[in-house]
This record gives sequence, structure tokens and C-alpha cells, in this order.
Amino acid sequence: MLKDAYAGDLTLDDSGRTVRLAGWVHRRRDHGGLIFIDLRDSHGIVQVVVDPDNAAAHEAAHRARSEWVLGVEGVVRQRSADTVNADMPTGDIEVVPTSVEVLNEALTPPFAVNDESEVDELVRLRHRYVDLRRPGVAEVIRLRHEVVLFMRQFLSERGFHEIETPTLIKSTPEGARDFLVPSRLQHGHFFALPQSPQIMKELLMVGGFERYFQMARCYRDEDTRANRIVELTQLDLEMAFVEEEDVISLVEELFTEVGRRFGGGRRLAQTPFPRIDYADAMARYGIDRPDLRFGLEFVDVSDAVRESEFQVFAGALAGGGEVRAMRVPGQVEMARRGIDSLVEVARGGGAKGLANLGFLAGGELRSPIARFLSEEEIAALRTLTAAEDGDMLFLVADRPEIVSASMALVREELAGRLELIDPDVLSFAWVTGFPLLEWKPEEERWDATHNPFCGFVEEDSPLLESDPGAVRSKQYDLTLNGTEIAGGSVRIHRRAEQEQVLRLMNYTDEEMQDRFGVLLDALEYGAPPMGGIAAGIDRVLMELVGSPNIRDVIAFPKASSGSDPLMGSPQPVGQDQLDELGLRIAPPPQVKG
Ligand code: ASP
Repeated sequence: MLKDAYAGDLTLDDSGRTVRLAGWVHRRRDHGGLIFIDLRDSHGIVQVVVDPDNAAAHEAAHRARSEWVLGVEGVVRQRSADTVNADMPTGDIEVVPTSVEVLNEALTPPFAVNDESEVDELVRLRHRYVDLRRPGVAEVIRLRHEVVLFMRQFLSERGFHEIETPTLIKSTPEGARDFLVPSRLQHGHFFALPQSPQIMKELLMVGGFERYFQMARCYRDEDTRANRIVELTQLDLEMAFVEEEDVISLVEELFTEVGRRFGGGRRLAQTPFPRIDYADAMARYGIDRPDLRFGLEFVDVSDAVRESEFQVFAGALAGGGEVRAMRVPGQVEMARRGIDSLVEVARGGGAKGLANLGFLAGGELRSPIARFLSEEEIAALRTLTAAEDGDMLFLVADRPEIVSASMALVREELAGRLELIDPDVLSFAWVTGFPLLEWKPEEERWDATHNPFCGFVEEDSPLLESDPGAVRSKQYDLTLNGTEIAGGSVRIHRRAEQEQVLRLMNYTDEEMQDRFGVLLDALEYGAPPMGGIAAGIDRVLMELVGSPNIRDVIAFPKASSGSDPLMGSPQPVGQDQLDELGLRIAPPPQVKG
């Protein structure tokens, strides 16, 4: 080793010790005579004081610039009282070198490493190797290691084996497009990168491993949106001979510990984690991953205004829609502009508008719609929402999905605006009771709400024939602060049932065999009842560190466009490679619009 100590590890106890350090110049101050170098390595920073008496060391220190790589041999000494730096963990010591060696010079970095000023993200990603040196950036990557290590140990101690599954496989549907890899040896054939190891892990259960896990790379070619990534890491696990409760309790224990150990001192809002039924989540929060750190729940007030003269309500209800209200305590005086901008937010979810009704003291109302509502209707709204003087109601009337989507956006916006979220809380919740299938009107077929392998409640089996939309799944999702961090299910483990579900999704027997033949066949060779889950490591980390940007928790992330600014990929390939693969590039597809 070119070093025998780390800068950040040195303490007063090391005074008098001769150490060999190596690292980067974090900061350098040349006082003409003395030169001070803050030497940084992966453990921290220590000050090196170079005296002109040591001519060779002084010459090297004089030449050195920010981010040069130095080897320093010297003696640790206590700083004099007037030079102690209380802001620095090693601020009560310094190193007086016997030698300073320049191990490598460095160009001036494209942005300063030694401060936290805002730098354009693309510039950071293009020079990620420099960016990773900045305060805070590397800490998150190290925390990620700790979290993953803990998960591995937790599961190993409980009899799980980590097993790698291949990444050049065949389509594994999880609701996204596949990334395809052309095969050179089999002309015109393609591998697909796994959207998840779902099929493989079921095969491992058939293969007799009763407890599997993997830190699995998954690839989903989705249109990029904020915090959606095309290449993600899942803690993927599967267990044989289990029911929902077994997976849920194991994973709850795991995440309770993860929250306690790595949540930066934040408290867990509730243990055991609350459980909420999907339909209930949609009705009360308009979303299947509700953020339970604050209230602002919705109440269905359709019955109170069914006969109303207010056409917006009556019309929506007559058309099979509904009216829901959200009570916002103490906000009757909300500024006009604030209300107007909420209307815009609601429109973002598809609503035509957002009605408001404020209850002033003494029975007075503040509302543009009050004059269309009868006294009884207003009284009923007030009772149903438990509104008090000083409260404001926001209401949306439309089809249920639009009411949900619009009010969920308004709820989120208000939580931010009114600062309703306690940043010191980690709020986990399970969402269960999802329907197995949803109708896709454009494609005129049923589709899995999650993936096609999800099991269903046995007694609902006849409904697969008569009313597929009513079949209850054995899916469970885990949310943290309003983000879905994990999802899984107890699976279908019999071929006939798996085929029945795939048939509802419009697969012909041929397509079924072609796409899922391996699984279907395996299910006939003694497949045990099984279930599992996968947790998105990137999202978990984001929540643990409280970062709004998923790229902060990935060492080498793709940019939000889905491309890689560091490596410059994707990129065109040469004709020779295309020829080898038997590929020809067509003109770019016409964008429909
Ligand atoms: N394969 C599922 C997913 O990627 C997780 C699971 O059901 O275990 O979401």
C-alpha cells in the first residue's frame, strides 16, 4: 500500500505518530511561507502544514493544485489552541510532512469539489468521477452499500440463498417495453433483458430452493419521467410454501430494521405498518400509494348533492360520476390566487374544475358555488366532511378515476404548500386487495394489474368466467412516504389457472406456449405454492436519504432523458457490427401526433 493511514481516521490519539497518507488536494492555501493543504481521502480530510524548511516537500506543495493526487509522509501533531478548527472532525490535529510526493497532476475540475454550490446536472453526470468526490455524494453511495449489506445478512440469516439469474433472457412482462439484444449467432433472433427475474425465481422454487433472493438488475424501457429509471436494482425474493402473511411479515421486519438503522434518526410513523385496502386508498386518497404522513382525506359527498340545482354536480352524478370533497382545516381565508392555482393543479388530473366552499365564523360562507346549493345540501356537506368554522372544502365532480387523479394532485400540492409533511418521519404502509385484472378498452382485453403471475383469492375463481374485474388478487405493495417501494404476490402455481388468466389477457394457446411455455411446463413438474416480493433499492435509498432525485443514489445514473452522458450512450454502431448482426437501420419512426 502507498499509505498506512486514512486522513479522516486520524485523531488526537495519533499525535506523535508517523503516518503515510495519500489522497487528493481538497484545498490549498499558500501563505508565502507555510503552505496548508487539506488532504482528502475516502475517510475524510486532514490538514497538512508544509514548512519552507523542508525544501523538497515545500516545492511539491507549492506546485500542487486542487484535486492533484499526493502522497504525504509525516508526523501527526496536536494543533495549538488558536488554530483548532471546530468545524472539522480532524480539526484538533495536523500533519507535518517529512515528504510530499505528487502522484498525479489533475486538470482544473469542471466544478469545485470542495463546496456544495449548485452545478448543472448534465455537467455533473458527464464528469461523474469528479462529482462523486463532492461532499454528500459519496456518502449516499456508501449508505447504499450498508443498506444492501444489511439486507443480504438479514435474509441469509433467515435461510435465503442469493442466486444470480441470467440477464440475457426472454421477455418477462412487468408492464414496460423490453430492451432487446440482437443475437449474432442466431440470425434475426433477440434476447430480452429482464424486466424482473419473475419467471426465473418461480423456476427456482420449482427447482426446490425454498428461499431465494437476489440484488437483481432490471431493465424497463419506459418513457422517462421524473424519477423513473430504465435500469433499476431490485431486492428480489421468493419463498415456497407461503401465504401473503408470511411474505408481508418477513418484509415488514426487514424494513422496520432498515428504517431504524438507516433512516437518519427519523422515527417510524407506525409499527406494525398500517394496511390499507386498494379501494379504500383510491377512495380516500385517490392513489394506490397514499402518503399517510398527513391527512386531507377525501369524502364521497355524492348523496348530499344528487338532487342539487348545481349542474356541475348534478350533471356529473347523472352521468354515473361522483362528487368527492376534501376538507382543509383552517384555510377558509386562502388567497384567491392560491385557489386559482389549485384549480389548475386539478385540471392536470383531468378535472374540468375544482369547486370550493369555505365556512367562515358565524355560519357565513365563502364560496362561488354556495348560491347554487340549498341550505340542506350545505349542511349535509358540512356534516359529511366534519367541517368546522375556518375550514375550506375542495370538491371535484366527475368520473371516479378523474376525481381520484385530480384530487390526489391537489392533496399533494396542498401538503407541500401548507407544509403538512413532517420530515422526521418514515411512514410505511401496505396496500392490499388489488383487483387481479383491469379492462383495457382500446385493446378489448383484460390485463394484469401487476404481472400475469399474480395469484387470486381461491373463492373468486368462478368470477374468472363471470366477472373477471371482480377477482381479488393476492398482491401486496409496500409504500414509504407515498412512494411505492416494493410489490409482490402469492403466485399462481397451477398450469390450468395460469392459462386461464393468460387467456383472459387474450393470449392464444400458441402465444402462451411461445412466451410462457417454460413456466407453464414447469408448473406441471411439482411447482410448490409460492410467493415473493421485489423492493426497488433505488427508491428505498431515495426515501432514506430524503432526496427528491433518484440519480443521487446511483453511482453512474442515466440522465433524465434515459441516455448516459458519461459514456455517451446509446450511440450508433459501425456498419461492420450491423452486418454481423444482420441489422439495417430504418429511417426514424414517424411520431404520431
Ligand atoms: N416481479 C415483480 C416486480 O418486478 C415483483 C414480485 O412480484 O415479486 O414488480
